[in-house]
Amino acid sequence: MTAFNTQLVHGQTINDNQTGAVNVPIYNSSTYQYQSIKQPVHWDYARSGNPTREFLEKQIAQLEKGVRGFAFASGMAAIHAVLAIFKPGDHLIVGDQIYGGTYRLLNQYFKERQLTFTAVDSRDLTAVAAAIRPNTKAIYFEPFTNPLLQVTSVKKIAQLAHAHHLLTIVDNTFLTPYLQQPLCLGADLVVHSATKYLSGHSDVIAGLVVAKTTELAEKIYFIQNALGGVLSPQDANLVRRGIQTLALRMDRQQANTAQLINFLQQQPEVTKIHYPVIPGTSDYEIAAAECHGCGGVFSFELAPEIDACRFVDHLKLFKLAVSLGAVESLAELPYEMSHAELPPAERLAAGISPQLIRLAVGIEDATDLKADLQQALAAVQPQKQPQIQRQTQKILIK
Ligand SMILES: *Cc1c(COP(=O)(O)O)cnc(C)c1O
Repeated sequence: MTAFNTQLVHGQTINDNQTGAVNVPIYNSSTYQYQSIKQPVHWDYARSGNPTREFLEKQIAQLEKGVRGFAFASGMAAIHAVLAIFKPGDHLIVGDQIYGGTYRLLNQYFKERQLTFTAVDSRDLTAVAAAIRPNTKAIYFEPFTNPLLQVTSVKKIAQLAHAHHLLTIVDNTFLTPYLQQPLCLGADLVVHSATKYLSGHSDVIAGLVVAKTTELAEKIYFIQNALGGVLSPQDANLVRRGIQTLALRMDRQQANTAQLINFLQQQPEVTKIHYPVIPGTSDYEIAAAECHGCGGVFSFELAPEIDACRFVDHLKLFKLAVSLGAVESLAELPYEMSHAELPPAERLAAGISPQLIRLAVGIEDATDLKADLQQALAAVQPQKQPQIQRQTQKILIK
């Protein structure tokens, strides 16, 4: 068995062509010829299976240590496929900070189809246990929440779930199998928006599912083939290629993140940083025990006198955009952008204030990223504080 970085590069080699090509070809055929009516075929029609897509599906199954992977046309299509294995009358427990699109899917689509759910703080095991009903079938959550990076123990949730014969479903988009392998911690199904770290270049929308057992894999395959939200061979190739450099990118993203946090901690305008690196906190202890790193997304709060909208508008290198996990650095204001759909009171209750900035750190030079934050901070200094202004200018000149 090869080690993780080798697996990233090579996947499970299939050598299915005569050319010696080191990469799996992009198979553009929607249909496949039968040798004869009597001979069984492995491939017949590309919704049911495509060799380029299958390479990626085997690649993610290997990396997540599951039995089988599935590639979908988006993260939401992947999540839909997982939720579609449940039946009317089933109940799910979901983390109360899950991705907004997932919440919308549950609340505005599956609820109408009699799938009920209870949203709870997945860090609070007592609350999770209290939400279990006779018809509860699964616990669905994100181990690192967005944008506050609150950490839930996959191990603890999976233990609780198993004790009650529930499935544990983890959205591993923020960490990827490089930093956490939820199936090894007891989860049953993993989902990904491969749009983010796995593809890594903001050039594809894709989703993946990995199942721990063949029984679950059969259920997911039925949905994938029956509903048909499959990833195209071209996009499967982009995700495959992105995965090859996942570890290199993530190492740089994490190193840059550490430098930016270090810099922001010293800025008087920054009142709080959300990233689970403070020893002694439960977030830190869980991350230290269950993850190989905390990724390249973090958020911070600006002092009330600083205009956060003007701050993000002044950023030049950080692009003002939602999404995360790509080579380029992005900044966003969750209150105005990713979480704007929530009513103001709910946003505030969830800890998403108008002063909160989320950064998705890329692989650029940390010095340039720091300089960008610094010039934007300098540009939004309130007039009354000439002292801070002078200091900032001095640093900029060096
Ligand atoms: C982006 C995202 C999704 C949705 O994935 P798409 O590829 O945009 O459909 C789901 N979960 C998380 C955590 C995400 O960040």
